[in-house]
Amino acid sequence: MANRASRRRWYSRVDAAAWIVVVSCLLVGCTAPSRTDDEAGGSTTHVYKGDGPIHVVCTTGQVAEMVRRIGGDRVAVEALMGPGVDPHLYSPAASDVSRLSGADAIVYSGLHLEGRMAELFEKLAARRFTVAATAGLVERHDKRLREPPEFAGLYDPHVWHDAALWADCATDLATAFGKFDPANAEQYAQRAKQYGRELAEVDQYCREQIATLPESRRVLITAHDAFGYFGAAYGLEVHGLKGISTEEEKDLGRQEELQRMIIQRQIPAVFVESAVAPRVVQALVEPVRDQGYDLQLPEEPLYADALGPAGSDAESYAGMLQHNARVIVTALGRQGS
Ligand SMILES: [Zn+2]
Repeated sequence: MANRASRRRWYSRVDAAAWIVVVSCLLVGCTAPSRTDDEAGGSTTHVYKGDGPIHVVCTTGQVAEMVRRIGGDRVAVEALMGPGVDPHLYSPAASDVSRLSGADAIVYSGLHLEGRMAELFEKLAARRFTVAATAGLVERHDKRLREPPEFAGLYDPHVWHDAALWADCATDLATAFGKFDPANAEQYAQRAKQYGRELAEVDQYCREQIATLPESRRVLITAHDAFGYFGAAYGLEVHGLKGISTEEEKDLGRQEELQRMIIQRQIPAVFVESAVAPRVVQALVEPVRDQGYDLQLPEEPLYADALGPAGSDAESYAGMLQHNARVIVTALGRQGS
């Protein structure tokens, strides 16, 4: 388990070169066609003054997809983190900071998912429209936000694994973009509504898939605790070998506890994640197999923190959730286990 001090260390670890770029940009003021108005409460509002498309730099693939869907032709979107990239461990390179500093708008996932970039976003927010996709959930103190005790007062950032929560984030983001670019506010809202309808279908699909499993099989064991929202929304008990962040050290006591549980409760499979080294979960599997128990480890990974590669069934957000539900149900529901 990480304590507060070690978490602060992750958040503040940004390459020295990257900071030099940030500081220079903040001092000289990189140009972007937006105006900054100080509001009475001390917060800043940015209003887009250009002709578009609005150049938006995002962190994860799922956030970039949300912005593309909400923004349509009005935005030109790029994502810093591609498939297989772990956002917990991502340290921005100097080139990333240049891209962020040159953007008209920045959208990140938030809730400390991008732990090593938090301070950078705070600084950029003074000069750029910078918003977290999850900001609205926090502002409303949404009851579905998970606060795992081991994350010491912080929310679990993996909200995209609940399609209904992610749809709410899309609505919030459309509202934020509507304030940034008021002339197109209605279009942002309409597109978010359409995206929300698609996500409602994905939500329904995941719920129906998991419901096909016998109750005793609805136990999901993965490399890190990324699936808490998935479990809460679709009815699975969830255990991670590591905690909420992949940066946490593996706890050997936890590993042995899970091994005992697998055998006792006859759990048929555990799962690797696309952005976490397979050995993390393999270390759990081998001692269980050595005891003669046939524990499966599906070859197909779950996509926890990043979308799948282009051309795969998980390259889109909806595809990622459907892929995960399919792989989970196939492995946990297999006959003869
Ligand atoms: Zn994660």
